[in-house]
Amino acid sequence: MSKKTKQTERTQKNAKKGGTKLEKAIRIPSTLPVLTAKDLVAFPGVMMSLFVSRAASMRSVERALSTTRQLFVVAQQNSDVAEPTAHDLYTVGVVAHIVRTLTLPDGRLKVLAQGMTRAEASAYGDAEGVLIARIKEVQSSLDGEPNKKDKAIINRIRENLQVLVQHEQRPEEILLVTEEITDPGQLSDIIIAHYALDASAAQTLLEQFDARARLRATDELIAQDLQQFLISEQVREQARDEMNRGQREYFLREQVKLINRELGEGSDTSEDIKALKESLAKAKLPPHAKAEADKQMRRLERMQPEASEYALIRTYLECLVELPWSLRTKDNLDVKNAKRVLADEHFGLEKAKDRIIEYLSVLKLKNDSRGPILCFVGPPGVGKTSLGKSIANALGRKFVRVSLGGMRDEAEIRGHRRTYVGAMSGRILSGIKQAGSHNCVFVLDELDKVGADFRGDPAAALLEVLDPQQNKEFMDHYLGIPFDLSEVMFIATANTLDTIPDALVDRLEIIPISGYTVEEKMHISKRFLMPRQRKENGIEKRAFKISDEALTFLIERYTLEAGVRGLEREVGSLCRKLAREVVEGRGMPSTIDLKILQKLLGATKVDPETRESGSQVGLVRGLAWTINGGEVMPIEASTAKGSGTLQLTGQLGSVMQESAQAALFYARSHAKELGLDPEFHGKYDLHVHVPGGATPKDGPSAGITIATAVVSALANRPVSKDLAMTGEITLRGNVLAIGGLKEKALAALRYGITRIIIPQENVKDLEDIPKEQREKIQFIPVKHIGEVLKVALLAPVKVQRKITEKMADKKIKPVKRKRPTVSAHV
Ligand code: ADP
Repeated sequence: MSKKTKQTERTQKNAKKGGTKLEKAIRIPSTLPVLTAKDLVAFPGVMMSLFVSRAASMRSVERALSTTRQLFVVAQQNSDVAEPTAHDLYTVGVVAHIVRTLTLPDGRLKVLAQGMTRAEASAYGDAEGVLIARIKEVQSSLDGEPNKKDKAIINRIRENLQVLVQHEQRPEEILLVTEEITDPGQLSDIIIAHYALDASAAQTLLEQFDARARLRATDELIAQDLQQFLISEQVREQARDEMNRGQREYFLREQVKLINRELGEGSDTSEDIKALKESLAKAKLPPHAKAEADKQMRRLERMQPEASEYALIRTYLECLVELPWSLRTKDNLDVKNAKRVLADEHFGLEKAKDRIIEYLSVLKLKNDSRGPILCFVGPPGVGKTSLGKSIANALGRKFVRVSLGGMRDEAEIRGHRRTYVGAMSGRILSGIKQAGSHNCVFVLDELDKVGADFRGDPAAALLEVLDPQQNKEFMDHYLGIPFDLSEVMFIATANTLDTIPDALVDRLEIIPISGYTVEEKMHISKRFLMPRQRKENGIEKRAFKISDEALTFLIERYTLEAGVRGLEREVGSLCRKLAREVVEGRGMPSTIDLKILQKLLGATKVDPETRESGSQVGLVRGLAWTINGGEVMPIEASTAKGSGTLQLTGQLGSVMQESAQAALFYARSHAKELGLDPEFHGKYDLHVHVPGGATPKDGPSAGITIATAVVSALANRPVSKDLAMTGEITLRGNVLAIGGLKEKALAALRYGITRIIIPQENVKDLEDIPKEQREKIQFIPVKHIGEVLKVALLAPVKVQRKITEKMADKKIKPVKRKRPTVSAHV
């Protein structure tokens, strides 16, 4: 069988007219040699070039040439079959007339043939080695003239073809060859042949004998083609538009640059960038920071100033500029000078000052500020922060203070990553920026008030800040590059160590600072607070004195605190009142005595008379230590008929509750010696209450106080009102040592208490208490609760036992001042 390869479907001009004529003029024999087309479907009216190489096909062509020159051209169903037999062929094909043949140099035969008419093979057979087909012509043209609808479709087809040709989607030839064809079937055949569809699709259309149906299929084919073209054109158009816009903007920008250059002006943006570059150069960044700055600067230069990221990068670069990478102050390591500055600025605090001088001496010898971090621990207002400031003054360093109180987010220390909306550097770097030198004195205030929650643990970040091994390369999330904190002198302050994580405490050198006595407060106010407040209130030039009596009254009756912050406020208030006296023409008194003071300041805030409401049954004054210093903590006990239950109220912690149980047990086991009803336990309910219910309280040192209150209530013997006590109790009634004796003693003095029962073991701590104060108090050391009761309990009251509520009415009125919501250690 012959093999034909590519179709180079060229339609001769005369074929378009001649197709029909030939079809009609030439008689079609009933058998014809078969030419099998591999991947081509022949159509009537179309001239085709066939390249024949298969032997069988050669034989068919030879047979045709020797007879009528006609062939039955039919497609094979599967183009992969090399030597197709009758089974591999479709039955519908085209009768073609061989116009010319040409033997090619490679031995193949080129056959130029004109498709004439559709025909259907009813059988294939062999005649002397040639495949022949018994065929029957198929009439597939329209019977009669095309109607209006056909014409409309034909018109549409032509129009669409025209568009496709205009846009070079189809060759112009297709318009030429179809120009004069009016028969819908024939028109369709020629167009379909030009479209070179795949063999099976083309065969389907060849087998569509209904001319109108073929026309509709052709219309659809062209419409789809056109639509595809239009879509791809639209996509191309969009891409072109975008490119054009980009190019236009580029040209416009270039033009603006050119115009600016011509006018000798820079745009705002370039000025801005220029200024930023200059400041970066001045900032003398270390190499790693410079590399980052350069990188960000390059990004900034490529960006539109309107872009949101422009502002972010700009702020970041400004942050780089503002950090004191290479700015440091020169230390004044003259120890004598430091001593003078510390003495000039603070009264007392000798231990703390000594430690600071030692620290500076080491710094001088080692010239390396990597020492332990000093941490001042003590009640509020005792000068912890201001001592930090004095260290900075003594060293000639810049000072910065950051309060860590309430900080719960690690990002506050370390900053937010730049991807975070509104990101900024953390408090440490902001502080350094504010100080403007990288060897500043940096006070971390309220280290004990750092919290932790789901946002991370600021204490963990602080560990890194305070660790001399790590802080050389401190990483702030916002900055994204390390900053050297090793030259910063960190100083921490706290009210208590209890809430600071151990890992942090380990890195600190604790310097305790205790509360001030009245005498110390007098000195501080005369030397520091008065002059400062006079200056602040514009009366420094007007001389006046304040009598010691008036000042003591001011300290004792207007403030109740361990430090001097409240006192400074009161002194400030006094100075303001004096300023008003001057302005209103009443003149400045030369000496402020008690009377004038009371007139100016009005009602006192702390009234000892109301605190001491006499000796009472079941009411004992305990002494507590809180982060605000010492406190007098009254404890009440009362009994009522019942079945021996013990009720504890006033937010007592577990240790205090256990103390109460121990005290009660002691009373039960020693009922006889104590003169109590041996059966009291089954007859009475006992209620122990510690006023100030909003403040949680805990600690063992209220043991003897609770025991005394319980026995006092049960025995109906009042407790001496000038007495306070502190001490832990065991089940056997032994009294154990407690802490914070100095603070407790000072608190007792503030409350006008003159006798304090203390554990024998604490006698050694008495020397911490300034002599003056020590002399004002009678300390009664005890080893056993029996001794406590002997001292504390007065003669029994002969009156009937009062009910609890009535007793409560007569109780000490709590001092009117805000109690901090912190735990009290008693
Ligand atoms: P803290 O940090 O301990 O809470 P501050 O350092 O804020 O206390 O001190 C409160 C005020 O009291 C400051 O004005 C401080 O100067 C002053 N002050 C505290 N102690 C002294 C002192 N020993 N000598 C002079 N002024 C003091």
